[in-house]
Amino acid sequence: MRQSAHSGWHPTRENASQRRRSRRHIAILVTLFIASGGCQRQNRAAPAGEQEIQSLVNVRGVRVLLADRSPAIHLRVTGPFTIGNLAGDTVVRGPRADWARLTVDGTRQLRLGNRPLGTGTLELSPERDGTIELSFSQTARPVSPRRYAGRLRISINAAGNPRIINFVDIETYVACVLPAELFPHFEQEAFRAQSVAVRTYVLYQMAQRAHSTHDVRATEASQVYPGIRTGAVAGRAREATQFTKGIVATWTSPEGERLFCTFYSACCGGRTQDVANCRTDVPSIPPLTGGVTCSCPKIATSYAWKPVRMSKREFTDRLVSRYPAMKGLGRIEDIQTVGRTSWGRPTVFRLSGGSVAHQDLKAEDLRLAIGSRTLRSSNFKTHAGRDDFEFFDGRGFGHGMGMCQWGMQEMALSGRSAAAILKHYYPTMNLTRAY
Ligand SMILES: [Zn+2]
Repeated sequence: MRQSAHSGWHPTRENASQRRRSRRHIAILVTLFIASGGCQRQNRAAPAGEQEIQSLVNVRGVRVLLADRSPAIHLRVTGPFTIGNLAGDTVVRGPRADWARLTVDGTRQLRLGNRPLGTGTLELSPERDGTIELSFSQTARPVSPRRYAGRLRISINAAGNPRIINFVDIETYVACVLPAELFPHFEQEAFRAQSVAVRTYVLYQMAQRAHSTHDVRATEASQVYPGIRTGAVAGRAREATQFTKGIVATWTSPEGERLFCTFYSACCGGRTQDVANCRTDVPSIPPLTGGVTCSCPKIATSYAWKPVRMSKREFTDRLVSRYPAMKGLGRIEDIQTVGRTSWGRPTVFRLSGGSVAHQDLKAEDLRLAIGSRTLRSSNFKTHAGRDDFEFFDGRGFGHGMGMCQWGMQEMALSGRSAAAILKHYYPTMNLTRAY
């Protein structure tokens, strides 16, 4: 079952009809980009070739929001670079830039160290072998710097902080995300499966957020993107990314072949979630309806979590800070499970205050309000004491939608291919070469 590294990834090249379908998929994907404004050439007729979509992907790249909450970011460039404005004028050019703090001064002007850079949006582009390094530590000297490929777009946000967006090509982005989203000991087929999920997820976000300033954040809110790493795991990530280059997950919608949001989480707890249980902004299409049986309980270190105790006061405060309207309930006194999947996973909790008033909340929304690491999943039982709640029999880690990473690893250990793993967790999906 296992494909060797030299056999290439040819999921759509098995026979002539699949080849025809592959070409159709490419045309459809290009149409999707054009229709969604996901490229910079929206007025053109839809192109229909692999080279065309390759150039679409390269022209734009992924826009990753790296920083907009810190007043100062340490920056250096280890080689020749240019800082220019969006009109194409050069503001600064140099053989390298030593460590300096990027800040916004009292006149709302960007500064790099003592050098003023103006008030407008800038692009920092390394030349030749130059690499950008950033440190987000709020200390006088840079700590734990991170290296980034591509270029930076730098502006000033509404709060008066520097806002940094990294424009990076998709394949580099995928290779950078993998080591941050997987354990280093995971099998290579797991890395390959994950690379397709990461690539598809970001392309889906690019199509959805074409008119936004950025496509994804560099955190768990999207996918963890720590920049370029070196070492053995980074090498395996690059191999997996290269092996699946340009391959995405699609499904056959009534309107034609479409990308979908390839959710994944660390540990589903034994069965995957229907996206409808967690989200209202993503349709519950066949690859995302969940209910997939998973072997993660056999090996996942994060399968069962320890009981968590929290005072009713703190629980209420955390809830109200995310849902201010719940303040009307007063202190939350009781939590009932009023919605469950057919296998018993809670989907809706009823929160009751001191009076008869109550409010229902999706189980996943409650988890995120309380803390995604405090309650490691929404699959738990509750007990209400006099002044506190206990959350016990917790199973799984993460939202449980889509692909389960520990289950993926278990399948890879059993000799299953990346393609088989993806098709298991996203039922009815197709593997499509996008470029
Ligand atoms: Zn699982």
